[in-house]
Order: sequence, then structure tokens, then C-alpha cells
Amino acid sequence: MTRSTQDWQAADSAHFLHPFTDYQTLQRKGARIITKADNVYLWDSDGHKIFDAMSGLWCVNVGYGQQALVDAATRQLKELPFYNAFFQTATPPAIELAELLSQVTPPGFSHVFFTGSGSEGNDTIVRMVRRYWDVLGQPQRQFIMSRKNAYHGSTMAGASLGGMTGMHAQGGLPIPGIAHIEQPYWFANGRGMTPEEFGLTAAGWLEAKIEELGPHNVAAFIGEPVQGAGGVIIPPETYWPEIQRICDKHQILLVSDEVITGFGRTGRWFGCERFGFRPDLMTFAKGVTSGYVPLGGVMVGERVVRVLIDQGGEFEHGYTYSGHPVACAVGLANIRLIQQLGLVEHVRDDVGPYLAEQFRALADHPLVGMAETCGLMGALLLVKDKALGLPFPSELHLGMVCRGHCFANGLIMRAVGDRMIVAPPLVTTRAQVDEMTALIRRCLDLTLADAQRGGWP
Ligand SMILES: *Cc1c(COP(=O)(O)O)cnc(C)c1O
Repeated sequence: MTRSTQDWQAADSAHFLHPFTDYQTLQRKGARIITKADNVYLWDSDGHKIFDAMSGLWCVNVGYGQQALVDAATRQLKELPFYNAFFQTATPPAIELAELLSQVTPPGFSHVFFTGSGSEGNDTIVRMVRRYWDVLGQPQRQFIMSRKNAYHGSTMAGASLGGMTGMHAQGGLPIPGIAHIEQPYWFANGRGMTPEEFGLTAAGWLEAKIEELGPHNVAAFIGEPVQGAGGVIIPPETYWPEIQRICDKHQILLVSDEVITGFGRTGRWFGCERFGFRPDLMTFAKGVTSGYVPLGGVMVGERVVRVLIDQGGEFEHGYTYSGHPVACAVGLANIRLIQQLGLVEHVRDDVGPYLAEQFRALADHPLVGMAETCGLMGALLLVKDKALGLPFPSELHLGMVCRGHCFANGLIMRAVGDRMIVAPPLVTTRAQVDEMTALIRRCLDLTLADAQRGGWP
């Protein structure tokens, strides 16, 4: 039995409160109903084919329709659909995934704490980091440093670590003991300097904040190697090594939130490898199962593991679904598929550089002030004046106008302010990059026509 789009929309409006959604607007417009998918394409309930240049929500790394993942889930559902990992028990898929994760993560990561999502992973980070310093007899080390415009999830701790002011305004956030510094966004914050100089300056803001709070009160620094939801903010090459130096100097734990950048997105297994730093802890989720089922976790490096295991006693933390056997079985199948298909190398050596080339060409468009990529993440900044790099007035919402054209033309691209961003599945081919780029160019032209009708330039 198939229901009509209108029928789906009516039922949706009547019963479903969506995440990150203005409910009145959605009631007026009706939801877009996605009914099936294959490879890099989606279909909606009216039969329109859509190029999914956002991999669902940055997660469908192996693309849709991978039978190996379906089979793994089916087998596990029949064999043992659930058992927990509390009370000194474990299941084979959770153990095997822990083992495989220790192989694909950088040296020094031999242990994992499983969660159900990235947000839960970052809640785990907050509790684990503070527990670490407690056990070491430095309970005053409470402060966790983060960046403005960061995204670390939507739970109380995740949203507090995050630097989205709109999220802080709802629910009395951030929780105590979180401090934010400015993000390493050269275009917005550093254009008087070379990117290399700016990278050092932006890292210096961390040191200044540490001095202000007192180094002995600071527990950890957390950052996404590339800020994703904040608009694909790619830091200068000098940034992360300097952050590492500052954390080392003050013995502060360094946490890499790899929820987007993990599992091949940047052309390395993990983003910290792309940017040359060695975190003590890493949060992961999304790409670990390519989104087929929910799973997240924290990779815990030697420095923290030794304290937790040798001196820590009971860690009073965990989730019903920590190490869920079906999720872990899908995670195993997903990572093995990434290995078999050579997707990390495909991004690093082939389709990543090709996307970079195509984005450089898009920078010629009259609306595009800056085009940049990192692996299979890319951003185009829409500007009013290319020479001066002047933005459009924000009340024009030009990014949203462009996004509207994308949807209407069969392309899912996200707008963060006036930054148009993509993160297509890692299986994307060069021919599909061409297809995506052609769609982007058409949507930019339509947006340009709208801007001109509105009196631009
Ligand atoms: C999506 C995301 C999260 C939150 O993950 P959920 O699974 O939605 O809870 C955390 N950090 C980063 C960098 C993310 O992109």
C-alpha cells in the first residue's frame, strides 16, 4: 500500500516533531518524503531522483544499497539481536569491532567505549576526561575548551561543548566548566594575515584562554579536525600542530571529534592523520556504520586507558546500547567494505583531488568568493563582491535561496549562512563529481539570476 505525498505530509504534521526544525514553517510547507535510495541517489515520494551530495547527514560513506551491510544486520538479528555489555558480559560483534577499530585507528588507540551516537560519545568524553583528572588527584581540572561555531551534538554536554549560540540559548547552556575560543576561519577572522600566520594566531587563542583560566584548571581541548556543521571550516595547515604543542606544554588532554572526519572522509582514516596531530581521545559515530544503524563511541588512547584501568575503579557510565551487537555487526561489515573497496585511497588519490579541481573551477563563478575542499568535503562561499570579499546582507538569506534551487533541481547541498557545502558518499566516482558540479553550476546561475533581479550588483 503506498500513500500519496500529501497523505504522508498530513500524517507527518499531525504527529512527528522533527529535529532542528521550525515547526510552523514545516506545517506550512509539508515535509519532503524520501522513500528509497541507491548508491549516491535518493528518490522522493513523487519519484524524483536526487543526487545526495551530503551523504544523508555526513554519514553514508559507503553509499546506499550495500548488500554486505544488510546481510550483516540480518544475520546478527537472527543470531542474537541484543545483549548488553554491562555486568561483565560481551557479545562477539562488539569484541570484534573493538579489535578492528584498534587496527584502523592511529597507533596508541587500543580501546573503545561504545555509545549509540556522536552526542553520547561527547557526553562520555566530558565524564571520562573529568574522571581521569579526579583519579590523578587533580579534580580542579574541570575546564574543557572548545571553539565557537563547533558542533559536538545535541545532548546537554554535546550542545555545551558545541559553540552554536542558538543552541546555547535553549535549555540554559553551556553547562559549567566549558570555555569557547574563536574558530580558525581564515576568511572571517584572519584575512590580514597569510593562512599560515593565521593558523598560529588562532591556535594562540587557546593558549591565551588557558593562561586566563589557569593551566591547572584545564582538563581538555576538543575540536573537529574540519568543522562540519559550522560550514566546512578547513583550518590552515599550521593550526593543529600548534594546538598539539600547546596542549602538550600544559599536559591538557587533546580530543579529536572525528564524527564526520572519521572513516575516510578527509582521505585518511581519521582527520587527525590528515592534519598531523595525535589526540588522546577521539569521538566517532556517523561513518562507522555509514549510518545504516546508529552507533558511536570514543577511542581511548594509552594515556587515559592506563589510568582508567590501572587506577580508576568503577567508571559509573554507560548506555543500554553500548556495544549493541547488531550495530557492531554492521560496523564491522562497513569497515571491511571500506577496506575492500579501497575507499580511503580512492578519496586521497583520486576523487578527492578531482573534487578539488572541479571546485577550483567553480571559483570563477561571479557569486563564488572562495571554494575549498578537504577530501570529500567542500564549501563554496557566496559573496557580493569577489574582489573585496564582501558578503551579501544576511537578511537576503542567499544561501537558503541557493539551497532551494538545489532541491528543485535534484541536488542535496547544505547552506550554512552563505557557505554552500557538500560531503558526498566516498564511493562517488569522477563522472558523478562532474554530474554534481554541473548541478551546482546550474543552481549558482539560478541564484545569480535571483540576486540580479533583487538589484545585484
Ligand atoms: C553529528 C555530529 C555529532 C553528533 O552526533 P549524533 O550522532 O547526531 O549525536 C557530534 N560531533 C560532530 C562533529 C558531528 O558532526
